[in-house]
Amino acid sequence: MAPTEIIPGVYAIKGRFAGEFGFISSYLVMEGEEGLVIDPGTAGDPGEEIVKGMVGLGLNPKKSLIGILCTHGHPDHVGGAGRLRRVTGAQIMIHGGDVDLLEDPRLFIKHRLRLDAAERLAMKMDRSPLRVNYTGTKPDRILRQGDEIKIGRVVLKVIHTGGHSAGHCMFLDADRKILFSGDELNNLPDDSRKFYVDLTGSLTAKLAAIDEIASHDIEYLLPAHDIPHIGHDARLQIQDVRDGVTHFLDAVLEHVSLRGEIDIEQLAFDIRQSRAVPVPEELAPLLPTTLEVALHDLEKAGLVKADTHGIWKRI
Ligand SMILES: [Zn+2]
Repeated sequence: MAPTEIIPGVYAIKGRFAGEFGFISSYLVMEGEEGLVIDPGTAGDPGEEIVKGMVGLGLNPKKSLIGILCTHGHPDHVGGAGRLRRVTGAQIMIHGGDVDLLEDPRLFIKHRLRLDAAERLAMKMDRSPLRVNYTGTKPDRILRQGDEIKIGRVVLKVIHTGGHSAGHCMFLDADRKILFSGDELNNLPDDSRKFYVDLTGSLTAKLAAIDEIASHDIEYLLPAHDIPHIGHDARLQIQDVRDGVTHFLDAVLEHVSLRGEIDIEQLAFDIRQSRAVPVPEELAPLLPTTLEVALHDLEKAGLVKADTHGIWKRI
């Protein structure tokens, strides 16, 4: 879809609707003749639309685009990064915690998700936005907590969140109260994307990041899936994600208590059966991954423990 200017100089470029993944959104931040892309999306969607969109705005992408900022390294967000750099020469920037994934996308299925062999194969063949159908690439700049990315008068501060994945970052334009939240603050009511994380992520880190964000006055919340949130709605969404994550952790604890002893596969089954949290079919393979992360978070908090066979108990 053509770029839509949602705030002066900030354009949303939406991909096609992709089932439970919703619309994947890229953002283009322009200041004078210079621009930054945040999350290029998959190679074709909205990846390809970004260059077309810039041309449509009367810009020369080769001259104008100076940076490709990646909130994290998942395939639905960086699949198009290498191609966009080849076309524009813009620098790819990502946090160190997700560099391995940018360089070798096959690690996503191999090491970032808890999948059995059949699920691994299904994900390889799947046509969803999580499909790894591109080659890895090296970043030009490694982002760190507190870094500032500047174009003209626009300053984007890097906030390393590390909840959704080890290297996840959000980008804050404090002057204009704009937050590019990537996959850390996904929204929509009853949406399981609120709490999904990969095996390098942490729900505790996600909650800490939400608390830090709540201390800023955010007027525009711009997530990587679906629609922007403005004003009170932005603050409501931030609170809603916090509630969703807390509810998920409570549900995990409750189901461990109910069984007394439980492994992750049984826990995933019980949680789906009881409808304790929303788990759409398309995203069901991601549930055991998030459960493993949640259990380790609860273990650190002294609430559960596992034996050497992977059987979890309440403490
Ligand atoms: Zn993601």
